[in-house]
Amino acid sequence: MKSKVFILYTGGTFGMKSNTNQELEPSSWEEIIDYLPAIKNQTFFHYFSEIDFTFETLEPVIDSSDITPEAWGRIALKVEQNYLDHDGFIIIHGTDTLAYSASALSFIFENLSKPIVLTGAQLPIFHPRTDGIVNLSNAIYIAGYQSFGIDRIPEVCICFNDDVLRGNRAVKTSTNDFEGFSSPNYENLANLEQHISINKHLIYQANNKALILKNKFSDRVVNVTIFPGYSPKPLIELVRTGKLEGIVLKTFGAGNLPNTPQWAELVNACERYNTIILATTQCPNGQIELGQYASSNVLNNRIVVDGKDITSEAALTKLMWVIGNFEVGLRCEMLSKNLRGEISSLK
Ligand code: ASP
Repeated sequence: MKSKVFILYTGGTFGMKSNTNQELEPSSWEEIIDYLPAIKNQTFFHYFSEIDFTFETLEPVIDSSDITPEAWGRIALKVEQNYLDHDGFIIIHGTDTLAYSASALSFIFENLSKPIVLTGAQLPIFHPRTDGIVNLSNAIYIAGYQSFGIDRIPEVCICFNDDVLRGNRAVKTSTNDFEGFSSPNYENLANLEQHISINKHLIYQANNKALILKNKFSDRVVNVTIFPGYSPKPLIELVRTGKLEGIVLKTFGAGNLPNTPQWAELVNACERYNTIILATTQCPNGQIELGQYASSNVLNNRIVVDGKDITSEAALTKLMWVIGNFEVGLRCEMLSKNLRGEISSLK
């Protein structure tokens, strides 16, 4: 069955070349196509003859360290403008911030019924051992699912190496391995090995409602990882300016903080200035359980939201997005809800 796939190239190592200082910089989609005769002569994409491709570039192409919430909004608009005419979407993106962008896009779109697949590479497509070809090919299978008779994944996901991960569950775990991403608290949505296996029971069920796009993000947030001896004093001062709207607080273990009066002072200041604390764990696996230890008592306050097993990237983007799109009185409730499969229903 024919399918239509929209590919948006944003930059990243996938399309990078060395400049005169031997530093990697992104090149244009035209240069990529010129270099790869298989793409240029359509033989690479010809292999996917059942698919009609649309290619676009998000200008300017960037190292993904330069991604911004404004760029997330532009990516989302490109998807929205092409949504009805295409069956699936691929976003080629740098790996450094790919998990942030995947999380942000997952929140931007409500009622998604088509796959949005983010991918990239650890070695540029110009390198003989590039992983870019395999990653792009795998992404084409997921986005063009109908042509291959495989199940639809109507989610924002990351396709990297042979893994398909829920976008807002993924973290970049290696700067080096071809298996660059993992999903610590949620199983892979699919595995593309010799055979393709889709874990149907893990996939979000699409509904028939119209796609809704909300793409505002607050930039008045901070991400704070505590450590032994950390003093929250500068943070309290920041909250008291009244300009900070949210804090992702990466606590010890299951939500624990040192037993010092300054933490109560911080929570009181947050309550007064409506600065939400989204409490998460700094452990790569597992979830917080407020109340399990006396050391998490101080977080028992209306301004604190239990982040459960959310990743750091999803926590930050969810906080920015909720603050950007919802009025003060609704924010804590929105944050505690499982909006796009980013947290598990633990209790
Ligand atoms: N710095 C690059 C980027 O994120 C790294 C990569 O793509 O692997 O754009």
